[in-house]
Amino acid sequence: MTSMFAMALLGVMELTAALPTSPTSHESSENEVNTYDFPFVSRSQWQARTPKQITPLATPVPYVVIHHSYTPAACYTDVECRQAMKSMQNFHMDDRRWWDIGYHFAVGSNGVAYEGRGWTTLGAQALHFNSVSIGICVIGDWRTSVPPAEQLKTVKSLIAAGVEQGYIKSDYKLVGHRQVRTTECPGDALYNEIIHWDHYSAFPNSPADLLSVKELPENVKEIIRNSPSS
Ligand SMILES: [Zn+2]
Repeated sequence: MTSMFAMALLGVMELTAALPTSPTSHESSENEVNTYDFPFVSRSQWQARTPKQITPLATPVPYVVIHHSYTPAACYTDVECRQAMKSMQNFHMDDRRWWDIGYHFAVGSNGVAYEGRGWTTLGAQALHFNSVSIGICVIGDWRTSVPPAEQLKTVKSLIAAGVEQGYIKSDYKLVGHRQVRTTECPGDALYNEIIHWDHYSAFPNSPADLLSVKELPENVKEIIRNSPSS
């Protein structure tokens, strides 16, 4: 029970100092052969920092969460997008004090997918929802303009690859971050785009709905019930 509770906590936040978890070695994706039919840049290729720790994600996940970065702004070249990845990772690790960049993947306006935590690591991208989801960041501020077609196409291809490789359930539900957390993310314009995508689900529609998400473990729901902010 103790370890279950610890896992639930990890699904909520990363208590780097508080939990006596044993260090996990990072299996570098450096030698992975990527057979994606879209441009893909691995962690080692954008020179990601080593995560402080890693917790496995139970896959296949039933949900995909779409985010925008807001900042950094949209990137249109590989050089700019790698810089955006580094800047997000630094912010998440140094300011947020998370173990790594929060997202599983991010996609630039150049149509390139960049590896964040990857398919098999628990993310820090949607509070109380991390244990059941893969989070994809559409780099840029998409409150008033829609991302370029190339960028959206790669997001869709990335999700399809996740399904094909068994990391995302074939009957997955797609949601915007705002549906599980009080936030404007992924921006009005991008949100109004994804509601037309296959697999978009209008449920959950608010943080309160999380208590009715059947895939969410009971111990996480208990944390939500006891959370002062909910
Ligand atoms: Zn978000």
